[in-house]
Amino acid sequence: MKRILLLLLLQLCALPALCWGFYGHRQINYHAVFLLPPEMLLLYKVHIEWLSNHSTDPDMRRYAVKEEAPKHFIDIDHYGTYPYSDLPRNWKSAVNKFSEDSLLAHGIVPWQVERMLFRLTSAFKCKDLMLILKYSAEIGHYIGDAHVPLHASSNHNGQLTGQKGIHAFWESRVPELLGPKGYNFLIGKAAYIAAPLTYIWERVLESAAAADTVLSVEKSLSLETDDDLKYGFEERNGKLIRQYSAYFTQKYDQALQGMAERRMRLAIFSVASFWYTAWVNAGQPDLRSLADRKLSESEQKSFDTLIINRNDHPMMIGRAEE
Ligand SMILES: [Zn+2]
Repeated sequence: MKRILLLLLLQLCALPALCWGFYGHRQINYHAVFLLPPEMLLLYKVHIEWLSNHSTDPDMRRYAVKEEAPKHFIDIDHYGTYPYSDLPRNWKSAVNKFSEDSLLAHGIVPWQVERMLFRLTSAFKCKDLMLILKYSAEIGHYIGDAHVPLHASSNHNGQLTGQKGIHAFWESRVPELLGPKGYNFLIGKAAYIAAPLTYIWERVLESAAAADTVLSVEKSLSLETDDDLKYGFEERNGKLIRQYSAYFTQKYDQALQGMAERRMRLAIFSVASFWYTAWVNAGQPDLRSLADRKLSESEQKSFDTLIINRNDHPMMIGRAEE
């Protein structure tokens, strides 16, 4: 099983466009924990490393299960122009208007967040520790994706405008280089979200509105920057790889006025607020007994395989055993 996970991980690393990258997703889930009220913090703090490490499980699944991919994005420009009023925000109405196949072809991230909220709420109602952790980690991933501008654009990797690589540049290279140098992750408290679907659509529309800027700023900076300044070589895992230079990355971030940090901060707030909302909607169950509970060895083991055997996609099991 470990070998399979490693294989998935390696495949993932080889792909050019990841959501937020490992760094971003881990930071988002990790820092969201500190926004929670004490009644939740006592459980989430015990498992903060797990929640952070498993923030990328949906991406690992993405390359093994074809149904997974549409859950991470929405090509909203497919539906006309901002604010894309032709697209019903409610899933059933959207299916009636466009058909499920067509919606899946262009991405469904806002509805995936809604679905995960429902599951997390149920897990809280049942006080099922493993499902609480799994769904918390995973809703954190999808919410994170919804905050990335290029996850709400059909030109998601600049492939239509000669800017291939911009996806990973914005969401991985920028935060990985600049995050450790001083991103501010102190963000107040989680809030109750009375209308979760409306809330996540607002974030998606913000992402869609920012996508043009993400692309056009890189374009104009590239035109005025020589390639030997734009790119540099860095060592990763013992190999020299061509990479956007630190110089160009910083210039880009300045021109975007710290957009990646702002979106990441908002994603952290959103993740904590969805966790909190699920807990409130479940009737604010007392989590003390769960926080005190030690996981058995078999539970620990099944944690590692949760992405395989509880992912709602039976075909994944077949693939994993091959
Ligand atoms: Zn993703």
